[in-house]
Amino acid sequence: MLSYLHAFHAGNFADVQKHLGLFLALKMMQAKPSGIACFDTHAGSARYDLQSERPRKTGEAEGGIQRLWQMRRHLQDPEWASFWNVIGVAEGAEQVRFYPGSPAWLEALAREQDPVTAFELHSGESSLLQDWARERRAHVVAGDGFRGLLAELPPPTPRLLTLIDPPYEVKDDYMTTAETVIKAWKRCRHGVYLVWYPLLPEARHEAMIRRLQDSPVTKVLQCHYLLDKSPARGMYGSGLLLVNPPWGWGDRLQSMLDDVAACGAIAARQQVAWAVPEQG
Ligand code: SAM
Repeated sequence: MLSYLHAFHAGNFADVQKHLGLFLALKMMQAKPSGIACFDTHAGSARYDLQSERPRKTGEAEGGIQRLWQMRRHLQDPEWASFWNVIGVAEGAEQVRFYPGSPAWLEALAREQDPVTAFELHSGESSLLQDWARERRAHVVAGDGFRGLLAELPPPTPRLLTLIDPPYEVKDDYMTTAETVIKAWKRCRHGVYLVWYPLLPEARHEAMIRRLQDSPVTKVLQCHYLLDKSPARGMYGSGLLLVNPPWGWGDRLQSMLDDVAACGAIAARQQVAWAVPEQG
């Protein structure tokens, strides 16, 4: 039984890193006109009311997107304007009310030639996702995103961007993620694959990364966004892997997250390194 609900965590510091990384990857790929198939294997419900009970219960958005919004005038990078545009918050608003989940980030940025497919297994979440998608250019599949992605590869479009963002409620999610990336890469080697994972004291992500390092997949960039003050228990940071990053993506993400730290919005630093470098 699935119990994870992203509404408790929407807009937290990890969502800021993940959605900024996704936003930059798609925008940078769109520098070329050819179409990009966008897949979101674990989509959630696409739109979160930050005033509703679940996000208010944890208050996680307060240390993430809400704090960033309060400090927005101190952000330097001109790209922030289009970031806020996707969120759709009115300039004079005191707070962000509705926060977009990953399929909404993809759909907001997708051009005519960029089809968006979102998978969601949880029945309640997938029906919210279907409602959201009804008048939008996104295709929703109520089912397993790991298998669903592989069934769609290679796509008919020239390029591919995939987000793999499981809840890691079950330990197997780490290995299933690694195996899915390897199989997907074999079917579409030029695809761009973005994987999110939590940094937890148990360090289960390490085995996932080792599995990728032992595979034929190359060009895997790792970004660890570490909270300055680690909590006594639980998540001390947020991790991203990007296979086949667009040129300069890591530097752009780093520079925008440096901007976030410099204005005092989120006390966290990112470390970027190749988990698997380009061969030869
Ligand atoms: N990607 C979303 C975002 O950034 O806004 C958050 C997704 S949340 C971390 C993970 C989601 O995956 C949950 O909504 C959960 O119900 C769903 N899920 C769990 N196992 C799944 C599977 N095998 N296939 C598709 N969705 C799954």
